[in-house]
Amino acid sequence: MSGLGSDIDRHLIRDQALQPIADKVASGDRISPDEGAYLFRTPDLLGVGALADAVNRARHGDRVYFAANQHINPTNVCILRKTCVFCSYARLPKEEGAYRYTMEQAYAEAAANPYVREFHIVGGLDMQAGLEYYAEMFRGLKTRHPDVHIKALTAVEIAHIARIEKMSIADVLVALRDAGLDTMPGGGAEVFSKGVRATIAEKKLAAEDWIEVHRVAHRLGIRSNCTMLYGHVESIEDRIEHLAMLRDLQDETGGFLAYIPLAYHPDHNELGDQLGRAGTATTGFDDLRNLAVGRLFLDNIAHVKTHWIMVTTALSQVALSFGVNDLEGTVVREKIYHEAGAHTPQSIPLDELVRLIRGAGKVPVERDSFYRELRRFDVAPSAEAA
Ligand code: SF4
Repeated sequence: MSGLGSDIDRHLIRDQALQPIADKVASGDRISPDEGAYLFRTPDLLGVGALADAVNRARHGDRVYFAANQHINPTNVCILRKTCVFCSYARLPKEEGAYRYTMEQAYAEAAANPYVREFHIVGGLDMQAGLEYYAEMFRGLKTRHPDVHIKALTAVEIAHIARIEKMSIADVLVALRDAGLDTMPGGGAEVFSKGVRATIAEKKLAAEDWIEVHRVAHRLGIRSNCTMLYGHVESIEDRIEHLAMLRDLQDETGGFLAYIPLAYHPDHNELGDQLGRAGTATTGFDDLRNLAVGRLFLDNIAHVKTHWIMVTTALSQVALSFGVNDLEGTVVREKIYHEAGAHTPQSIPLDELVRLIRGAGKVPVERDSFYRELRRFDVAPSAEAA
């Protein structure tokens, strides 16, 4: 990270204990785990935001990216239905509401949107959805939509397919890439801490294995995103440990495109009931802080994305001044977080994304899946009100 010199609005920093961190950020030095933890602890959210905003502006200027994407969730059948206690989406095979798309259903959903440049495809760990199920789906999608990028299958799903097919991770990835897989999303990471995983997802792929799947993918030239699910039982130390593991892998491979903090939603899941948290999503304060700290701590990941589905479009717009340079795209039909109580819409028109970004005083840029600029929407002379 290059130095920022005097570009930090230091008058916004009220907590004087942040000044040494500001000095490091200004000179382009990496912040330590202890400093990262302090960024989570200080009540001076505007100070943390000012630092993150300076780093973001130095990298991206006023550009804010978004993609015309479409989420497709082909199956909610999952063998971890009983042990991922934070999940509201999964079902057992015979449980009410369980579904698995046929190829025709997947193709029909994909065809429903006239303007899409990326399919984002994730689902449950379904014993009936192995390598051939996804390979056939990707081949069919590429035949029908040759110009649409396929970002599909979390590390957890890749490891599941490898296990049921008795194949190596690399062989599964190569076969899926041959069928049309372009990049991978960053889900399934949750929080890497062993203690947290034992509480919220005891049977899920271990942290080292999640990292290894992404390492193998990056070595094969398959780029991916990374995430952290926050706002449940994790501590600040757990968050920093998680971010440090992502930063280390990025130092090694450079394969992550974007970091996306994911807000836990407590409705319709066992964890929310246990914690007595039904109806209480994360706070705006913590949402903004997670985005800003991600920008500051992950100094080697170019893009930080806000997921408006989880934190609302209003907060996502504010986040554009807290280190964020990417707004989740059009989506079309989101299922996973709406099962968990998200009250946001299931899709957003492209015009509305442009309006939100302009309203924040930024320049909307439609991107492809590798963050190459496709269209720039220059700021209208009248600059719409937020
Ligand atoms: S979080 Fe993923 S792996 Fe866990 S139960 Fe839900 S769909 Fe299955």
